[in-house]
Amino acid sequence: MSDSQVSLFTRIINSEIPADIVYEDDQCIVINDIAPQAPVHMLVIPRKPLARLVDAVKDDEMIMGHLLWVAGEVARMRGIENAFRLVINNGAGAGQTVFHLHLHVLGAKQFHETDLTTL
Ligand code: 5GP
Repeated sequence: MSDSQVSLFTRIINSEIPADIVYEDDQCIVINDIAPQAPVHMLVIPRKPLARLVDAVKDDEMIMGHLLWVAGEVARMRGIENAFRLVINNGAGAGQTVFHLHLHVLGAKQFHETDLTTL
């Protein structure tokens, strides 16, 4: 893989770019979003550089489940366990800008059903 294909999030995982790290383990890292869209806005990022959700294969099932579990854990750590939202943008047409799978964990704001299509 050439340097230009290495994602921004892989560079953060490799400590080449600084980030505010909330949590990390052998499979993923959680950072605060640089441009938060809610008072709590974290990104759960697998160390494996899957570009998009649809690029995950059957063998990635364990990782995908782990990412969801971690999202709940960090929500609890930040005190938003009773009201938070998870968002995954899949593809440029859905607003994905960083092509390394990540879950947005958003909380500490008032949510309305009509917010579902935003981010
Ligand atoms: P996407 O639009 O791909 O679903 O989300 C990408 C997210 O990454 C955005 O919310 C954006 O603010 C965040 N982001 C982009 N560059 C950086 C960075 O250098 N550091 C951090 N912590 N977040 C970033």
